[in-house]
Amino acid sequence: MFNFHTHCYYCDGQGKPKDFVQEAVKQSFTAFGFSSHGPLPFDNSFSIKENNIPAYIAEIKEASAEFPQLPISYGLECDFIPNLSKPFSYFKQTYGLQYIIGGIHMVEKDGQLWFIDGPLSATYDDGLANIFHNDIRLAVKTYFYQLFNMIENEQFDIIAHFDKIKMHNKNRYFLETDKWYQNYIFEAIRLIKEKNLIVEINTRGIYKQRYNGFYPSAWILKEIHRQNIPITISMDAHQAQEISLGYESAKQCALETGFRKISQLIDGKIFETNLQ
Ligand SMILES: [Zn+2]
Ligand SMILES: [Zn+2]
Repeated sequence: MFNFHTHCYYCDGQGKPKDFVQEAVKQSFTAFGFSSHGPLPFDNSFSIKENNIPAYIAEIKEASAEFPQLPISYGLECDFIPNLSKPFSYFKQTYGLQYIIGGIHMVEKDGQLWFIDGPLSATYDDGLANIFHNDIRLAVKTYFYQLFNMIENEQFDIIAHFDKIKMHNKNRYFLETDKWYQNYIFEAIRLIKEKNLIVEINTRGIYKQRYNGFYPSAWILKEIHRQNIPITISMDAHQAQEISLGYESAKQCALETGFRKISQLIDGKIFETNLQ
């Protein structure tokens, strides 16, 4: 078992890196990674401050030295916001990070940001009304164009929860069976394949009871498998107790959608192992 998508107290998670490592060792993990939310150029409560990155890495290395039996990698989950976020490669190079997870939590429209994550559907609904005048097609299109822009222009390893736009939608504004929506998903998959990215199966929606399924959905995973795109399983843990929540059901879903291999990181190097 492994998990490379985790948030500790350097961003919006709880607990020290050591707490996570201890729990991972206790649960017999074979590999682990840290991915604090990357710095953003505006005040916020969820991302790591750039001047804390050296301490973040040092603390992970310290925990790693205490538990040499567990290979630990350190990286960031970087947000892409057009004309606002720094290039992912800047963080990777400046701080010698071992991997980057790329993801979108805020959709940019004319300088305004639509926050599509977090616990409240009201935040999603308000942004949809105030920024997009309830034009769901425009809102979803803007999300996917931003996603395509990230895939094409940033350098990263794993793509985070790439259909998260569905989370607070809860089948109210659009359905996953809508052709226009599916076309965006297929275009995203085409670009992911072109860039050799790893797709994560993210379990957080299920254990936080925000969405009754994985990101991405099983029908999308089938297409990802058909195109021979590598996957990993991410619990997107924000505290040590969450590091393995949903892992078994995600693995089951991966097997059912045809996958027999899974990607993992050992000391920052990516390789595939058998899924069993
Ligand atoms: Zn995320
Ligand atoms: Zn995350």
